[in-house]
Amino acid sequence: MKPSELLTPTPAGLYCPPADIHIDPVRPVARALITHGHSDHARAGHGAVLATSETLAIMALRYGEAFAGTRQPVAPGETVRIGAVDFRFVPAGHVLGSAQIVVEHKGLRIVVSGDYKRERDPTCAPFEPVPCDVFITEATFGLPVFRHPPAHAETAKLIDSVRLFPERTHIVGAYSLGKAQRLMALIREAGYERPIYIHGAVEKITELYRAEGVPLGDIRKVEPGERNAEGRRALAGEIVICPPSAIQDLWSRRFPDPVTAFASGWMRVRARARQKGVELPLVISDHAGWDDLQATIREVQANEIWITHGEAEALAHWCGSVGLRGKPLHLVGYGDEGEAEPEARPAEAEPAEVAP
Ligand SMILES: [Zn+2]
Ligand SMILES: [Zn+2]
Repeated sequence: MKPSELLTPTPAGLYCPPADIHIDPVRPVARALITHGHSDHARAGHGAVLATSETLAIMALRYGEAFAGTRQPVAPGETVRIGAVDFRFVPAGHVLGSAQIVVEHKGLRIVVSGDYKRERDPTCAPFEPVPCDVFITEATFGLPVFRHPPAHAETAKLIDSVRLFPERTHIVGAYSLGKAQRLMALIREAGYERPIYIHGAVEKITELYRAEGVPLGDIRKVEPGERNAEGRRALAGEIVICPPSAIQDLWSRRFPDPVTAFASGWMRVRARARQKGVELPLVISDHAGWDDLQATIREVQANEIWITHGEAEALAHWCGSVGLRGKPLHLVGYGDEGEAEPEARPAEAEPAEVAP
């Protein structure tokens, strides 16, 4: 069997003909396997959905209980057979519940990694490399400029700034699913014990993480009362986490002399930080950077690498240079809500200085 007979790119997403099922479809389909809860991968309106219990809970939270006709939780490591094809969910280390999907049929094994990272994340199970014939990867940060510094070092920059400017509120933009909670956990690991304040848009997902057993310490929602002058002063010197859009809008101007920070892999590009008015860029990514993409591709020992989205041509070119077959799939509809910003063209931008 040829790999393209087991999995093939279609306008709705990756399709497995012998099982009649799609993986992370971008259009409503009869049966879908979902790698993780970010909105470019997990969409509402499918007939049947198979995913980890955490991903199903995230989808129900975001889209309502009727997000799919039926749902079936799949535990990490569990194999589900559909039409003589075996599907196994393996942790991807990206966000809570994120999984790679191992597709196996007649001795051929393809791994659909979804979005993934290799750096340790206290809020989700670590990525497990699975040797395979074909490895399907994204390439959001598939350029040599994207070498992510250690997340704990970036977190230390935030905490140092809070100590240096105790009269200023530190407003940190972070994607509401995954990044925000990872940042809270990193802040706690750094020994910071004061309450961490959050924007209302981050509240429900954060509650879900806690309900799933992720310890985040004292988390408090910014209350409407804190919008008046007295309340604002009370948040001087505190850390407030909000969705990225909120760091630029009126919401953030309620706080006393705010320091605006943004936690994203894109903060590696200095021009992006400047353009967004970010004073304190924190290079914290939930996607593998250039070195980890390469290390992972070597580790899984696949001869063929299919690249779904991101810097597909650059990564395919590197694959060719080390004797592997790299094939951009040009899948449309991905670009992670959790990280990708389609308008960002890192090739045109200058790299930021690396953290000391
Ligand atoms: Zn994602
Ligand atoms: Zn994505």
